[in-house]
Amino acid sequence: MSTDTRRGNEGARDLHALEREHVIQSYARLPVEFVRADGPYLWDEQGNKYLDFLCGISVTNIGHCHPRVVAAVREQVGRLMHVSNLFYTEPAVLLAQRLAESSLQGKVFFCNSGAEATEAAIKLARRASPRGEIVTVHGAFHGRSYGALSATPEEAKQAPFEPLVPGFHAVDPTPEALVHAVNRNTAAVLLEPIQGESGVHVLSNELLRAARSACDNHGAALVFDEVQCGMGRTGTLWAYEQTGVVPDALTTAKALGGGLPIGALVTAPRFADVLQTGDHGSTFAGGPVACAAALAALEITQDPDLLAKVTDMGHRLYDELERLPHVTSVRGRGLMLACELDISAPEVVRRALLNERLVVNATGPTTVRLLPPLIVEEIEVDLALQRLHAALAAGEGDG
Ligand code: PLP
Repeated sequence: MSTDTRRGNEGARDLHALEREHVIQSYARLPVEFVRADGPYLWDEQGNKYLDFLCGISVTNIGHCHPRVVAAVREQVGRLMHVSNLFYTEPAVLLAQRLAESSLQGKVFFCNSGAEATEAAIKLARRASPRGEIVTVHGAFHGRSYGALSATPEEAKQAPFEPLVPGFHAVDPTPEALVHAVNRNTAAVLLEPIQGESGVHVLSNELLRAARSACDNHGAALVFDEVQCGMGRTGTLWAYEQTGVVPDALTTAKALGGGLPIGALVTAPRFADVLQTGDHGSTFAGGPVACAAALAALEITQDPDLLAKVTDMGHRLYDELERLPHVTSVRGRGLMLACELDISAPEVVRRALLNERLVVNATGPTTVRLLPPLIVEEIEVDLALQRLHAALAAGEGDG
């Protein structure tokens, strides 16, 4: 189908103007239209090739259009697309088995996004506990739906949408503050082991251990949000594997579907039977096509060679980022990294995209986040560094 046919009567009318006219303006888009992708590369409608070090915000972790994901989707989409959760389908059951076996050994609830996975975790925690308070930490991001937003303690995101869901309590991400906040009213502590949206802040193992023992002491559930930091991003399938702390439940989404939307809540055995028939549900959740894609994506991501490479490439990128002009510090683990700049990050991101054809994003006024595909080779890491260097150097005098 040609681009013009797809745009119907609008013909060659400017897509950006059309978007402004018809799409609710809740996103600030950069002025590029992507039409095709392969591995770590994207192409715009004029045929320009870009190196993608953002992965659609940590979704296309195994590269765009991975042939095994594409084959699995093609096969499934021609066989059975949807029947609802009133019936059994094989891809969902196999995916649940593999997800549970890869992590907490309990059971899985499927959904369609990260925010929905947060909602499922909140419902699980409150169903398991006669109390109901959820403790979170500042800098967290758990999604935009009401429960998830209530767990995301950021004034600018929350204030316009009050009243929020009651019973959420955010504290500073320190062991002392967390231990102080958890008590007999706590149903769960919800944490991202590495905070992604606030700029890649790694929570210390000490904090995670404190959360674990506070939850144990008060019978609360420890839930890790691995929507962004999971699925191989930090060099192990799940980020918690490197922390020495095992949660009672974890949430995943983003990269789980290899590019298709799917989310999941995975529990430890102790919480596996908390949610009862009728407690929660979603029409599309665990659909055969998304689950077929996720089965392929999970299998590819579990490859120990791939995960080892994430660590190697992560070190290479981290070390070299520290040497770039205007970079004052680097944070993160594996291929989930951010650099702090002494110039405007949104400007650098724009120059990287438009002048250097490198896709990264800014999580704040001075923070550039890099989420490259886990399949990147040295050549792409070095290319990204050259391009970022050029985008940074072009800002001499921005200060
Ligand atoms: N949790 C974390 C850690 C995230 O980074 C995100 C999205 O960025 C979400 C939850 C929400 O996911 P979604 O946008 O799929 O609802």
